[in-house]
Amino acid sequence: MSSNIYLKKTCIECGNQFIARTTVTLCCSGRCRKRIWKRKQREKKIKKAIEVEEKTIPQHIKNSDLKGREIFSILQASKFIGVSKSTIYRLFDDGKLKKVKIRSRIFITRNNIEKAFKI
Ligand SMILES: [Zn+2]
Repeated sequence: MSSNIYLKKTCIECGNQFIARTTVTLCCSGRCRKRIWKRKQREKKIKKAIEVEEKTIPQHIKNSDLKGREIFSILQASKFIGVSKSTIYRLFDDGKLKKVKIRSRIFITRNNIEKAFKI
């Protein structure tokens, strides 16, 4: 479809001035259009790689078995909070952290961790 539009434009790729026959034309030639297209493809690839990377991280945290957990062992709780096991025992002694005993094993609930650390 031919138009009678003659717009003086600057090519976004090479910076040359050219006469555009449509208002949406951005570049002077097929060569420039191809270059722009190639760059866009590359940007898409990079964007996709970043998206994949971002998706990988939460998945990894999920797989670490601590996120979303409601009950922790002493070791898990120390890892989750980021303190040593002895700190956990000290918090028990100080009465700052409540423990849950299931038979002979000691557990800590997420609720009690949140209360103790006011998360
Ligand atoms: Zn150009």
